[in-house]
Amino acid sequence: MTPETLAALDRAHLIHPVSSWRDQEEYGPRILQSGQGAWLTDIEGNKLLDGFAGLWCVNVGYGQQKVVQAATEQMARLPYATGYFGFASESAITLASRLAVVTPGDLNRVFFSQGGSDAVDSALRFIRFYQHARGTPEKRHVIGLARGYHGSTYTGAGLTALAAFHRDADVPLAWQHHISSPDPYRHPEGPDAAPIIAASVADLRNKVTELGGPEHVAAFFCEPVQGSGGVAIPPKGWLTAMRNTCRELDILFVTDEVITGFGRTGPLFACEHEGVVPDMMTVAKGLTSGYAPMGAVFMSEGMYSTIRDATPPGIAVGHGMTYSAHPVSAAIGLAVLDLYQNGLLDNGVTSGNHLATRLAAMKDHPLVGDARSIGMLGAIELVTDKAAKTKPTASLGISKKLARIGYEKGVLFRAFGDDIIGLAPPLCLTLEETDILCDRIEIVLNVLLDDKDIAAAI
Ligand code: PMP
Repeated sequence: MTPETLAALDRAHLIHPVSSWRDQEEYGPRILQSGQGAWLTDIEGNKLLDGFAGLWCVNVGYGQQKVVQAATEQMARLPYATGYFGFASESAITLASRLAVVTPGDLNRVFFSQGGSDAVDSALRFIRFYQHARGTPEKRHVIGLARGYHGSTYTGAGLTALAAFHRDADVPLAWQHHISSPDPYRHPEGPDAAPIIAASVADLRNKVTELGGPEHVAAFFCEPVQGSGGVAIPPKGWLTAMRNTCRELDILFVTDEVITGFGRTGPLFACEHEGVVPDMMTVAKGLTSGYAPMGAVFMSEGMYSTIRDATPPGIAVGHGMTYSAHPVSAAIGLAVLDLYQNGLLDNGVTSGNHLATRLAAMKDHPLVGDARSIGMLGAIELVTDKAAKTKPTASLGISKKLARIGYEKGVLFRAFGDDIIGLAPPLCLTLEETDILCDRIEIVLNVLLDDKDIAAAI
């Protein structure tokens, strides 16, 4: 089909995730055709450097033939095996056992979902089962962070704290609550670590009190680095302090590592930066690097055995999906894990250090208020007044301009609103490619600066 025919069919039929339906009909799709390493080629033959790894998921990069082979072999031999009724596949069992070795502490039990949203939704259901199992069903409230993102199922969208996911959706649900974000750049107490950490701990304690005390609160969820909320990187020590506060209050501490897992911030899991062991952890994206859908929830031995022991013999724990532990996704997960463990994590750390250096230099740009990163996860925050940290007004249309200019200059990134450029390149990015990525972003920033309206606003 020609690009024009495909575009017309897209406008007529395909509903895109988290998109403006009006814009989609007006502008049509950008159709991607192939990828190799960190590079994508679109249907018109344009070559684009993917600074966002698809949707922060293609951590191993495109065209990894070992992953393709693993998927092909599994698909040819056994494309599907249910996990219901005691069935299993070799790839799913092997992946579960290998992940148990590499996940923090005693997170030895894993339930496989199809992506991050249903991993979070599954976690919320397991938490409910757990509180019933231990005889504390009144512990039902769950607390997340402002600017948090936890997927777009009903429960995940409610735990999320981004306006687009709440609008006309009747969420948050009655048992879902939020405390303030530990974003150092915009925190009223920021940017120093100690007051931000103290504020978060106080917020959590106050929220628990407001909800009637710990006997009414089940869990606290957080992303170790807030992703879709604009790549907010909490100060060092924050995760440990929140973990300790939850332990003190007898609240489950759940980390959502859907973005931060699998080397995105350096180590395999972001919790490892501080040696923190959560009670539960959700992952997706880098688990299969986007080569096929899969997510997972890990739970501690204690949680697992409490639910098991409270369930009468022969009675099912009523949670699962047709594609839980899908054997092809699991085979991909194994091949991807091999790549992480054989040099890819190290490469991500090396290129991540270089990315940090290049981003630090961008702080001098007239439009840049903050530039930050941890490993291969970064953001550039645009302001029209550096001292006052003024966000660009919507009327400047920066979000749309960024997407258009970036594409023209051959670089893909994510624009969050009109002020944040998000970066999450594949971990296979070389140092030279890291420079190309940063050079192109600087070009994009300069084109923005040449815009009459934007220049007048600063
Ligand atoms: N949790 C976090 C932290 C995420 O970033 C995302 C997706 N960006 C999700 C959950 C939902 O994952 P999915 O889109 O695979 O359903």
